[in-house]
Amino acid sequence: MTQLLYMETFGCQMNERDSEIMAQLLGEHSYVQTDTPEQADVVVVNTCSIRGKAAHKAYSCFGRYKKLKEKHHDFILAVTGCVAQQDGAALLERMPYIDIVMGPQSIYALPSLVAAFRRDRKPLVATDLSAEFIIPPFLPNLAEGPAHKRFITIMQGCDNFCTYCVVPYTRGREISRSFADILAEATHLVEQGVKEITLIGQNVNSYGKKGDAAQHKSFPELLRAVAGIDGLKRLRFTTSHPKDLSEDLMRCFAEIPVLCPHFHLPVQSGSNSILKQMNRKYTIESYLDKVARLREYRPDIALTTDIIVGFPGETDDDFAATMQIMETVQYHGAYSFKYSDRPNAKAADFPGKVAEEVKTGRLARLQARQEEIALAFKQAEIGKAVEVMVEGASKAPANQWSGRTGTNQIVNFSCERKLVPGELLVVEIEGACQNSLRGKMI
Ligand code: SF4
Repeated sequence: MTQLLYMETFGCQMNERDSEIMAQLLGEHSYVQTDTPEQADVVVVNTCSIRGKAAHKAYSCFGRYKKLKEKHHDFILAVTGCVAQQDGAALLERMPYIDIVMGPQSIYALPSLVAAFRRDRKPLVATDLSAEFIIPPFLPNLAEGPAHKRFITIMQGCDNFCTYCVVPYTRGREISRSFADILAEATHLVEQGVKEITLIGQNVNSYGKKGDAAQHKSFPELLRAVAGIDGLKRLRFTTSHPKDLSEDLMRCFAEIPVLCPHFHLPVQSGSNSILKQMNRKYTIESYLDKVARLREYRPDIALTTDIIVGFPGETDDDFAATMQIMETVQYHGAYSFKYSDRPNAKAADFPGKVAEEVKTGRLARLQARQEEIALAFKQAEIGKAVEVMVEGASKAPANQWSGRTGTNQIVNFSCERKLVPGELLVVEIEGACQNSLRGKMI
């Protein structure tokens, strides 16, 4: 009998991909996704706790499901992701209406956990982290997620222990998936019509550094192999740690035609003393050197970054150095946040916490400047013809479509004919606003 599944996902692309995997796993047990939680037999909430704000969003969403349960909707509520891993059994004590708590390494057991709960009606917790965890081989069912572009998880966890970050405690130690599995999954996807693949992991630059050397190769080798799949039009990857960015990887941007000219390179701070406190293991000088090398290999590359303001001990001078790095690099985009203490993360115990209003003021200044820089990049595109991959039709008006450039900019454009997501075409850019470009197909 068909059962209905409702999924709510917070956070990063790793979580988005994990949600697709869970939907597929339950799909193999006759679950079909629904858009309305009121109708669901199983609700899965995939949480993120990278920042305090993200974790609060998850907690407030649990409250909504509590209310739904009180209205006698009899569904199984399963919580996964980093909040589930972090809080474990304590989550069940505080919120007894949750039925299953499972960490990111346990998502592959979701069907058996749901079956066990149905049978025994007893709450379940699955949050073991194993150093030997292997990402199961997986050939995705295209019923889940978009048909023209997909994520492939190439590694899990992280060994870097940046002092502000929970990931090594919630996703476990770094593990690379086998080269052959990834290639088989990518080949399968392209054979099914997928045009764009994004390889994802917490730090893809260190892919293959841990594990069976006979099985694992380097990340540049993986990129070259996936890029060689006949029919693949675009290849992307995220996220990268600057300390592990090799010359060989930078060279890929000059040598692999389908590799999109976009690099997300988190800087986090412009101050060497703060970077040291963050345990980032690079200096601003070495970071800027890599930025320059990347631009030599691919002059049109768009760089984006992550920045934390108000890390413990951050002075006005440290923050000025972060503002300076934005001027020097000129990022196409930046995800910027106020520092918040995270459970288990070392920096939670650091002295010199920055006052909330100071963090708020610094973040506002940084974001205002970044918006100007990003808008200037977009305005510089006006009059140019750019290649766009079609994402889909706009809801209104008619004949309006949306797509993305290789640099990952959204382009809204007009075209009289019906287009297919994944189609590549050329658009003349006529206008720019903060979040997108506008043009017409030529
Ligand atoms: S590299 Fe640092 S910030 Fe990124 S996941 Fe690992 S510990 Fe967290």
